[in-house]
Amino acid sequence: MVDARPAVFLDRDGVINAYRSNYVKRWSEVSFLPGSLAALRRLSATCCRIVVVTNQSAVGRGIMTLDEVSEINRRLVDVITAQGGRIDRIYICPHRPEAGCTCRKPRPGMLLAAAAEMNLDLGSSYLVGDARSDVEAARAAGVRGIIVLTGRGKQTAESLSPDERATWRIVQDLEGAVAYILDDHRQL
Ligand SMILES: [Mg+2]
Ligand SMILES: [Zn+2]
Repeated sequence: MVDARPAVFLDRDGVINAYRSNYVKRWSEVSFLPGSLAALRRLSATCCRIVVVTNQSAVGRGIMTLDEVSEINRRLVDVITAQGGRIDRIYICPHRPEAGCTCRKPRPGMLLAAAAEMNLDLGSSYLVGDARSDVEAARAAGVRGIIVLTGRGKQTAESLSPDERATWRIVQDLEGAVAYILDDHRQL
């Protein structure tokens, strides 16, 4: 049995590409955030597994199909790969919030599934997200959560209680998150 590896879990919208309040529904609505491709290239040089975990309730709401989400993801990964980065796997929750599934963040289902399927060590892993549901999913899975101020991040950071502010790492963007992770986890 090979030793479990650390992972960096990444939310998609608001972390890698710009958040849109009415969903990213087609490729023309994908806009990479400044520095995100360079940050992914830097992260890709480590032994960390890079795993995207994304809530896409537009599928459950009938606004888009799972195939359309997968096609956007495929093109996203193509660009990331062409820029020297990698994404090892993408997990999608397609359900509506009311569906009560175990995968939709803030539930930790996607992280736990990835840990089992990819042999990940959650205790040495990180999650980078812009929403409260991201860091709550991280906490529920025993993963260190990092909030970026891109996407909905400013709103999320402002909503933190003093206790949360003291324990949740807040950085400017994905570049800041990767710099923090590399510094925090030097054995990578
Ligand atoms: Mg997001
Ligand atoms: Zn789900």
